[in-house]
Amino acid sequence: MSLDQPPLDTSPKVSDEVRKTTCYMCACRCGINVHMKDGKVAYIEGNKDHPVNQGVLCAKGSAGIMQHNAPSRLRAPLKRVGARGSGEFEEISWEEALTMATDLLRPIREKHPEKLAFFTGRDQSQSFTGFWAQGFGTPNFAAHGGFCSVNMAAAGIYTMGGAFWEFGQPDWDHTKLFMLFGVAEDHDSNPIKMGIGKIKARGARMIGVNPIRTGYNAVADDWVGITPGTDGLFILAMVHCLMRAGKIDLDYLARFTNASVLVNEDPKSEQFGLFLRDAEGQPQVIDRNTGKLAPWNGKGVEPDLAATHRAKGVTHRPVFHQMADRYLSDAYAPEAVAERCGISAERIRALAADLARVAFDEAIELDRPWTDFRGKKHDKMVGRPVSFHAMRGISAHSNGFQTCRALHVLQILLGSVEVPGGMRFKPPYPKPATAHPKPHGKVTPGAALDGPHLGYTHGPEDLLLDTEGNPTRIDKAYSWENPMSAHGLMHMVISNAHAGVPYKIDTLFMYMANMSWNSSMNVGGVHKMLTDKDENGDYVIPNIIYSDAYSSEMVAYADLILPDTTYLERHDCISLLDRPICEADGVADAIRWPVVEPDRDVRGFQSVLCDLGARLGMPGFVNEDGSQKYQDYADYITNHIRRPGVGPLAGFRGNGDDHGRGEVNPNQLDRYIENGGFWLEHVPENAAYYKPFSMEYQDWAVKMGFYDVVQPYIFQLYVEPLRKFQAAAEGIGERQPPEHLRERLKLTMDPLPIWYGPLEDDQVDLDEYPVHALTQRPMAMYHSWGTQNAWLRQIHGHNPLYVPTKIWEENGFKDGDWAKVSSTHGSIVVPVAHQASLNANTVWTWNAIGKRKGTWALDEGATEATKGFLLNHLIHELLPPKGDGLRWANSDPVTGQAAWFDLRVKIEKSAIPNEAQPAMPAIKSPVGKGPSELDWKVGK
Ligand code: SF4
Repeated sequence: MSLDQPPLDTSPKVSDEVRKTTCYMCACRCGINVHMKDGKVAYIEGNKDHPVNQGVLCAKGSAGIMQHNAPSRLRAPLKRVGARGSGEFEEISWEEALTMATDLLRPIREKHPEKLAFFTGRDQSQSFTGFWAQGFGTPNFAAHGGFCSVNMAAAGIYTMGGAFWEFGQPDWDHTKLFMLFGVAEDHDSNPIKMGIGKIKARGARMIGVNPIRTGYNAVADDWVGITPGTDGLFILAMVHCLMRAGKIDLDYLARFTNASVLVNEDPKSEQFGLFLRDAEGQPQVIDRNTGKLAPWNGKGVEPDLAATHRAKGVTHRPVFHQMADRYLSDAYAPEAVAERCGISAERIRALAADLARVAFDEAIELDRPWTDFRGKKHDKMVGRPVSFHAMRGISAHSNGFQTCRALHVLQILLGSVEVPGGMRFKPPYPKPATAHPKPHGKVTPGAALDGPHLGYTHGPEDLLLDTEGNPTRIDKAYSWENPMSAHGLMHMVISNAHAGVPYKIDTLFMYMANMSWNSSMNVGGVHKMLTDKDENGDYVIPNIIYSDAYSSEMVAYADLILPDTTYLERHDCISLLDRPICEADGVADAIRWPVVEPDRDVRGFQSVLCDLGARLGMPGFVNEDGSQKYQDYADYITNHIRRPGVGPLAGFRGNGDDHGRGEVNPNQLDRYIENGGFWLEHVPENAAYYKPFSMEYQDWAVKMGFYDVVQPYIFQLYVEPLRKFQAAAEGIGERQPPEHLRERLKLTMDPLPIWYGPLEDDQVDLDEYPVHALTQRPMAMYHSWGTQNAWLRQIHGHNPLYVPTKIWEENGFKDGDWAKVSSTHGSIVVPVAHQASLNANTVWTWNAIGKRKGTWALDEGATEATKGFLLNHLIHELLPPKGDGLRWANSDPVTGQAAWFDLRVKIEKSAIPNEAQPAMPAIKSPVGKGPSELDWKVGK
């Protein structure tokens, strides 16, 4: 070996300065150190002090340089000059753009505010954009949750005050068994990777439940290749096994859940299925100390799981009895569900036994005293070290809400929520549904809406309906079609607006949502809806304003483009009022700030809204003298007050030393920048678990401003508001659903988790379309942004359809083959690849890699545009007709969540075409085409 190796500088100086901000290459919001050289971004690394990633950076995060430097960045406001969809624009000034927008929006606001539909995509400023929409007065606002994972969020809030990701996480330090459902690389990237690394280092076990074995599932100790859409059945079969074996935490259930709350069991009573309540409205339990009725939260009460109560001829039994009736039934026995789930009965029993063994035989104790809300002092914290995480894979089905409920109930039965080793909430969560606002939709021309748009319904009286019973929102959220649509239904906006049902709108205003491509079902149909003209030759959707940082597919379909900045050029706040970055042990929020100035004529969208709000004279955006209240988003972040002492950022308030609550601090953003772009305060040790029940936590939460008075609560195994909707469908109450929805409401609004087959299965010939088809988000990309990124494109330039061995062999596929894949809605012709680690009746592909020619400044011959494809072409926003004259939405009937993963297809070998089908004509690029080599020279 030569001893003359050239000397290597292993620590070259890479920068003149480090600027600390927050990553936006996916939604995890890791802290990043942006190294600057000669005023340019030279290098991005993880921030070691940051609570989310503790220095870890993923491939996406480090490729942020290429996102910032992308040739597809929009450069100036654009006015459409060609036909919609052509991509023909001219650049205009900001003054012209804002005047155009104001001229469109002012008359709408003055006469019919509901004729503005304002929907945002994956933006991280929803408390601000919602505030703007509220000030405008339109009821039509929501973000992307309806087509993402609202089932998980809503099921979590209604059941226990939060779910996963921003709401909660496994207790990585103590868990011994971690079970992951339906998650690829989405919905927690670095934090999950770090957590899995941590538990593996300790020798803890991980079980992945997913039809596809990739990503996290590839490193699981056990993989359960479940049939799509049957997770709820599998979970309830495990519940059956645990209840039958008596392996549930009875003490926890009695104290901290509504298992002991008494339910009216007289089918002739108008109160049938509702809780027995006292004069103050508190649900009643039987106190084991006295054998008498007592409120659930009475001081010293010991709720009884077994006792029943009979009064005035009506028997009331605890929720727990109803659960036993249902889940001990043979319908949920492993043998009854095994074939449908694609998991043997023996394996279901073994997995349930594993959960029980770890939860009860390997229980842990922390020597930390705490006090519960009934005043009982506990000298230790008992942990059931089983934890779960799940997201879109189980929620993006038409049975997803009840499936997510089932998973939360399973965790609760094991006593493993908010205990050491289990699932832990992240402050300011948990917050029960009753602590959230109700939805608001009352329109007054020229004035603000009567309250925040999105919230939680507690019965038919909270639905947003007009006097005829019709939906008052364009997406039909909070109507009988989906009564608990807590995040709205963005995926239905374009088709409803096109159909003029429930009414026509004037202007569609969207932000950061690629609704003409990968974020919509029925892509070709959406193009037609966006370009259709009426008998007068006017567009059916008259005006479309869109804001994006990049030349995405949606740009071509808008009339006016408001170009946004990249994430390194803007102010943002990742706020406790919104979707925060907290950890179970700490409350935290963060900012972005312009670590580089834009070199184009672009503006942060939120700053543009401050300007537009002032031009329109909207409340909250003008001072008393009519002048503009917030000069830009940074001004709003610093000076906006939502409640006394509570603003968008909780750190460094007042003179800089107040946290949680405090006066406005004009230097607040500087303090964040000095602190690395974030603020963090730890939860006191004796308040770190049992958050909903612990007085130590409740007192701390009030001090921090999460809420104004203590509000302990118990987990809702039985969700009474669901029963109220079900009762309405049975004919009880003044507000009644339309006839055609009654049976569906009776089935799906069950107050205890149930399983029913995906709705598409009832309306598709399963002999003709037997195969399930899914998408997953790639590890290296975050939806459509990633495939234009010069570094990340080298990882995924196109996306094959992955086919399991059985289907591969049946079709005689070979490497390099292509297949025609058809659903009842359409066909695609795409390249296939073999994957053995896949449910035998499922095909899948990566999400959002396929691109439309002419977009994202890519070459028209780029593989993303010629071999890349979308599964979306096969999915329709409406289910196939079933002969009743109605087209039912392809959504969960409870929340309206888009049922992306109910799709059924058939697959057959195809001749190899020139390019993936359907091939759509190229769009003219408003930003031209990127160079073939993307140089980013920094320094000498
Ligand atoms: S996980 Fe997401 S937020 Fe974190 S570094 Fe990667 S891309 Fe950025």
